[in-house]
Amino acid sequence: MRPRSEAPVEERTAAGNAVELIDVSRRYESGSSTITALDAVTLTIPYGQFVVVLGPSGSGKTTLVNIMGALDNASGGSVRIAGRDCTRASRREMFEIRRHTVSFIFQSFNLFPGLTARENVQFGIDAAGRHDGPSAAEVLRSVGLGERLDQFPGQLSGGEQQRVAVARALATGNPLILADEPTGELDFQTGTRILELLQAQVGTGRTVILVTHNREIARAADRVLELRGGRITGDGPPPGGKVHVRDLFW
Ligand code: ADP
Ligand code: MG
Repeated sequence: MRPRSEAPVEERTAAGNAVELIDVSRRYESGSSTITALDAVTLTIPYGQFVVVLGPSGSGKTTLVNIMGALDNASGGSVRIAGRDCTRASRREMFEIRRHTVSFIFQSFNLFPGLTARENVQFGIDAAGRHDGPSAAEVLRSVGLGERLDQFPGQLSGGEQQRVAVARALATGNPLILADEPTGELDFQTGTRILELLQAQVGTGRTVILVTHNREIARAADRVLELRGGRITGDGPPPGGKVHVRDLFW
């Protein structure tokens, strides 16, 4: 039997939650003072949800995403990712959880400048150890970059580079997609294109957690989390109800 981590995404997401946090805190010691970046955060995020995280700069959004993505350990509380207890996970265990569960899309695209678009996406496939899914070229075609397979990042526009980063995240086949302000500097057209791609992933049972400053984007979410001073100050559907990405405008 295949290990659970390599099963198709539909099997892996059929049961359980993507993320479960109970009373999670994250403190940073700096000199003699302590910064509490997250304070008593309790959250359950099932599979198949499109979650937008809003909050002012410094409110703890990146800290929260890093903990949900097994990039960082909490200082207190309990953390489960894809049903696995990560509360006291070692670096090695965190690596394994990330590898088979999480895909990241960062604000800075983090593409390898010396690799072509296709090679950057292949890197994601290899890192996740998946070889039963679509090819790098197929995923790049799905984000509209079929004509750009062999270009290097420096030969692509900012929007195209961002789409390569999205393709790399999707190609892993992992069920939890975390995006920390990926539409930050993109024009409306590219931004909505990326949102449509992410929204399509939710339709396959994946969960997408997207950090943004843009309240308009939150209107297309299933659920909006608001953070302030490291605490959850709001958690629910967007006011006025969820709208389709094509009905957004900013
Ligand atoms: P956001 O992403 O909402 O802007 P962050 O999660 O990056 O917020 O930061 C939350 C708080 O934690 C801020 O006060 C920030 O200065 C602090 N912080 C984040 N990372 C560190 C770190 N590595 N060391 C010390 N303080 C940090
Ligand atoms: Mg941040």
